[in-house]
Amino acid sequence: MKCPICGGRAVGKVGLEQYYCWNCYLEYQYQGSVLKVYKVSEDGSLVEYNDAEIG
Ligand SMILES: [Zn+2]
Repeated sequence: MKCPICGGRAVGKVGLEQYYCWNCYLEYQYQGSVLKVYKVSEDGSLVEYNDAEIG
């Protein structure tokens, strides 16, 4: 899968329907057909990313 934000291929699968882009430092999770994007904060917790920012 390609990163939906940068279009790059530096995406790794980190869980069931969960992916991480090493380029954007963002994590993606598919909830059905909905893509949720999370930002990984410095302490490792996930912060929901405004998906309106996805081009
Ligand atoms: Zn990316």
